Amino acid sequence: MGTEDSSDVAEAKTGAGRVTLGFQAEVRQLLHLMIHSLYSNKEIFLRELISNASDANDKLRFLALADPALLGNDPELKIRIIFDAKNRTISVSDNGIGMSRQELIDNIGTIARSGTAEFLGQMTGDSRKDAQLIGQFGVGFYSAFIVADRVVVETRRAGVADSDGVRWESDGKGEYSIAPIVRSERGTRIILQLKKDEVEFSDGSRLRSLIRKYSDHIGFPVTLADAEKPQDQPQTVNSATALWTRSRSDISDPEYRELYKHLSHDFTDPLTWSHNKVEGKRQYTSLLYIPATAPFDLWNRDAPRGLKLYVQRVFIMDQADQFLPLYLRFVKGVVDSADLPLNVSRELLQQDASLEGIRTALTRRVIDMLDKLASNDADGYAKFWSAFGQVFKEGLVEDSQNREKLAALLRFATTRSEGEKQDQSLDDYLSRAPKDQDRIYFILGDSHAKAIASPHLEQLKSRGIEVLLLTDRIDPWIIDHLEEFRGKKLQDVGRGELELPQGDGAVADKALDDENRPLLKKIRRTLKDRVDTVNVSRRLVDSAACVVASEQDLAPRLRRMLEASGQKVPQTKPILELNIRHPLVARLSAETDNERFADLSNIVLDHALLAEGAPLENPAGYVKRMNKLLVDLEKNKP
Ligand code: ADP
Ligand code: MG
Repeated sequence: MGTEDSSDVAEAKTGAGRVTLGFQAEVRQLLHLMIHSLYSNKEIFLRELISNASDANDKLRFLALADPALLGNDPELKIRIIFDAKNRTISVSDNGIGMSRQELIDNIGTIARSGTAEFLGQMTGDSRKDAQLIGQFGVGFYSAFIVADRVVVETRRAGVADSDGVRWESDGKGEYSIAPIVRSERGTRIILQLKKDEVEFSDGSRLRSLIRKYSDHIGFPVTLADAEKPQDQPQTVNSATALWTRSRSDISDPEYRELYKHLSHDFTDPLTWSHNKVEGKRQYTSLLYIPATAPFDLWNRDAPRGLKLYVQRVFIMDQADQFLPLYLRFVKGVVDSADLPLNVSRELLQQDASLEGIRTALTRRVIDMLDKLASNDADGYAKFWSAFGQVFKEGLVEDSQNREKLAALLRFATTRSEGEKQDQSLDDYLSRAPKDQDRIYFILGDSHAKAIASPHLEQLKSRGIEVLLLTDRIDPWIIDHLEEFRGKKLQDVGRGELELPQGDGAVADKALDDENRPLLKKIRRTLKDRVDTVNVSRRLVDSAACVVASEQDLAPRLRRMLEASGQKVPQTKPILELNIRHPLVARLSAETDNERFADLSNIVLDHALLAEGAPLENPAGYVKRMNKLLVDLEKNKP
């Protein structure tokens, strides 16, 4: 005892074995940005330090399952906060796992998350925007430097000798020192020397209300004591029961939100959550959250994902990824199982067949939660979609059991959307479609601009038929897995025959084909190396021609993507479709000179390819033919 005296911040800086080290460049940058951008939110440092202390206690309790000796004669895990107004200090202590020297260097001098440098590079200097960004990143320990101009960490790993303690100290400017100490207590104490104008944080009633506000959900007692009144008993300030073990009706929304922040290391409020206790073959409690913003490393395959697993309120592991499918990897939360063994490991979880039932149930919960969000809070759902829509779409491929439900939750940009916004559901689409329309039309494109300008849409547009514009990278794959929705087939307007609902605008049928058969045949013969066949188009209004893929062929865009990724894709020829009402086609039909007919046919095809955004196989040939045509034009001038 006796080391719990916060005045030793001012201790002499020299000592045996003390070394000074530099922060990793990213840490330095983060510290700088954080102090500036989070200033208006500075009180969160306390939540972050208590959150870390709680994690440290959780980890020790877990290790002690296998090795109870780790708890020694100090088995009651808790978090202690001592403030000292006179010396302007505050300390946060836990009696958890503690850190070794190397762990201190790795955890507090370094950020190991890959992509951090790029992420920090996106910071704008506008503190409001940056605060949002840093919030997604999770600020953690470093937030202490928002209110402190010096921070000391004294720590000792559970289970090692008193003389193996370590002391870390920094002013948050670029370097830190680290030195061995003798520490009689296990765990970690963080001591903040508050900046001159942050005295409010060494005030007891201010601290009490902050702990209640931010850390009431923490499952360990958090006590508060005044260093100037050593005779007073420390008081427990929080309710010290894990939030999810309480009944839903006793928990307020702000409490749910604070637990989210502790679990997710994200400090933006979640969009929604779902808290359930299941008493079936397997007994467990789950609390699942939908975040509002995507973490910067959402697309990194190694980024942390999964739920926090507890067994009978004992923390077992972070990032248990067996409880939800990959396409729901953005969901954060806790599962607390009543019947898994306490010594369950990742490997055991993988082999546990009965886990499948929990996974199925949790998956359904998330889908229901999203369904509710979509019906009750359109803005919230739009936020969800823009943050996670791309990931969620993978579900169409991954989760065939829930396909129809997932499909109803998809949002698309269509020819009726506001700009490029993905704001329409398939049900919205169907509710507007004419009665006799038995298909859902879509087009695939590299970009919104290209898709909406595609000649393939001309006929549909002129008849007021809505088309989904699919321009996300993953769309060609996912759409393949959605053959129909509510009994209506999905049809790619860039492929095969286009069947449109009958009606006034219906384009002529067989007769038109028969009438034009000689012309179609002649063009096909001329272009036989380049096209599969030539048809009368039902898609076009203004353009002379377009190319479409045959029903069996890969969509052109999928083909280009596969080729770009180095895969061998069998070469197939497109179908050329002609707009029989176009003057250029009339001109072609009237052309008697064979050479000129061939040139014109090739140009019509090249233009159709260009309009698709497809590369020409022989651009020089195209230019030559085009030039010849222009010269002829000049010659034939009256
Ligand atoms: P995060 O909590 O998101 O991992 P932090 O910046 O809050 O990030 O903490 C960084 C790391 O430092 C933690 O992951 C943990 O390994 C270590 N750490 C921080 N505080 C403590 C503590 N009180 N006891 C033990 N380890 C800690
Ligand atoms: Mg933390």
